[in-house]
Amino acid sequence: MARYTTAVCRLCRRSGDKLMLKGSRCFGPKCAMERRGKPPGHQPMRRRRLSDRGVQLREKQKARYSYGMLEKQFRRFFEAAERQAGITGENLLVLLERRLDNIVYRLGFADSRSQGRQLVRHGHILVNGRKVDVPSYLIKEGDTISWKEASTKSGYYEQMAQGFESKVIPEWLSLDIEKGVGQVISLPTPSDIEAKFELPGIVEYYSR
Ligand code: SF4
Repeated sequence: MARYTTAVCRLCRRSGDKLMLKGSRCFGPKCAMERRGKPPGHQPMRRRRLSDRGVQLREKQKARYSYGMLEKQFRRFFEAAERQAGITGENLLVLLERRLDNIVYRLGFADSRSQGRQLVRHGHILVNGRKVDVPSYLIKEGDTISWKEASTKSGYYEQMAQGFESKVIPEWLSLDIEKGVGQVISLPTPSDIEAKFELPGIVEYYSR
């Protein structure tokens, strides 16, 4: 299964924005954007202003990096969003947010989406009581997200569960702290999702 393997802080520096790809490190002084916010590589003396196309590309890349997706898969999500009724950009945002690796992250089971993806891929996560090891699986309203019984005995789970009470989870999700079971109360709406990218730029990028 393909995934993005480059040093993720470079992606933030290239985008010029904190995309919060490394969990708690993103909030501390070790964040590469805090230490050196410049894009990676050789810096020209004067930076050129981005063209409209350049701005659209940057927004699309920020979205793709945020959800840890390769271009081919991201484009598939965009095409699925286009086929749906309504506003394509908003449809895309909701589809991205419905990914299982993102839900695992939003529930506080993981510190970042990439960690969420790893938990899913390694078979630790159940949806409605059945193992789902596909990070791009789209959750539905009413789904429950829980842990494989054996995984709840791990040191990782015990440490993570201690922090459940302090986690802030979105209103469209709920979490049973005692059992470590999450539920999708309703599907998110675009206004529920704080995005680090501009949706119109992404739509324009793919509409050429
Ligand atoms: Fe981006 Fe987080 Fe790395 Fe900072 S620590 S550059 S926010 S991934």
